[in-house]
Amino acid sequence: MATYYDTTEYRAYIRNSSAQRALDVAGDRWSFLIILGAFYGYSRFEDWKSHYNMSTSVLSSRLKKLQANGILVKTPLAGSRHMQYLLTPTGKDLLTWALAVWEWENEWLYRYEGHRVHIVHADCGQSTFPQTTCMACGESIQWMDVDFEEGPGYVSMESVVPASTRRSTVSTGDGPVGSNFGRFADIFGDRWSYQIVSAALFRVRRFDELMAELNIGSSILAERLKHLVHYGLLARSRYQDSPARWEYIATQKTMDFAKIPLMLGIWADKHLPPSAGPVYLRRHRLCKQVLNIEVGCHECGGSLDAGNITFQDSRLTHRT
Ligand SMILES: [Zn+2]
Ligand SMILES: [Zn+2]
Repeated sequence: MATYYDTTEYRAYIRNSSAQRALDVAGDRWSFLIILGAFYGYSRFEDWKSHYNMSTSVLSSRLKKLQANGILVKTPLAGSRHMQYLLTPTGKDLLTWALAVWEWENEWLYRYEGHRVHIVHADCGQSTFPQTTCMACGESIQWMDVDFEEGPGYVSMESVVPASTRRSTVSTGDGPVGSNFGRFADIFGDRWSYQIVSAALFRVRRFDELMAELNIGSSILAERLKHLVHYGLLARSRYQDSPARWEYIATQKTMDFAKIPLMLGIWADKHLPPSAGPVYLRRHRLCKQVLNIEVGCHECGGSLDAGNITFQDSRLTHRT
């Protein structure tokens, strides 16, 4: 069994990870926001368009992609000629991921002001703070407690690195997009930022190593590193003086973030499984069980699911 520290071998995890496949489906800021918005109750084209200030063409292309990948389904709205987009069971299964995003945002991005979106747990009627725990032992999930091992689909470390060099815009402001549920999307709204942070968690820290591991261009990498340092996800540390060279080290904020790609990976193994089965398995070191994550209510301890919670924006903004 490999651990967090065996980085040489498990760098390949980054390339082979299930989270990677999930990013192929939902890996850009707009897709993240559409999914988060769907949990929040958005179902009509105009909901996303007006709340997130999205262009018609971007919104339609993302909605199409999410339908093609089985996350949303388009149906007529009863008693109207309008159409609505609803989460499929596969899409609804991303709820634990969305709640982990909320939990991380609340802890790290809204620490002093409180999250603008409140989650109410119908079973106890309380405004709740979601808490991610191991389904087997109930302990909270820490990155350092997760081991990776070869799964049934493991064949070779030499699997193909996605050759995407697609560039997407990164906003560093708190504009219309970032001002609602999903400030997360401003930070991680592109696959490169997500991948660089994942690499840092596996201690791939140097510029040249990151370029080689992720097959990323130097200017895009430099831009994303600057962005991630700005947001406190990576800390720069000098490891050589002349010429000056820097390493990019995952901060505690990033360690806490790690459960989000873990959950995306668990979701992908269930809904987008490779034909031979998962390439890697995650195991919880505390209980030795294959990791599965559930999200519970801090008030009553009951589990949170799509049928028993509602999201409420504390300063909302009427629905259109
Ligand atoms: Zn456990
Ligand atoms: Zn509760």
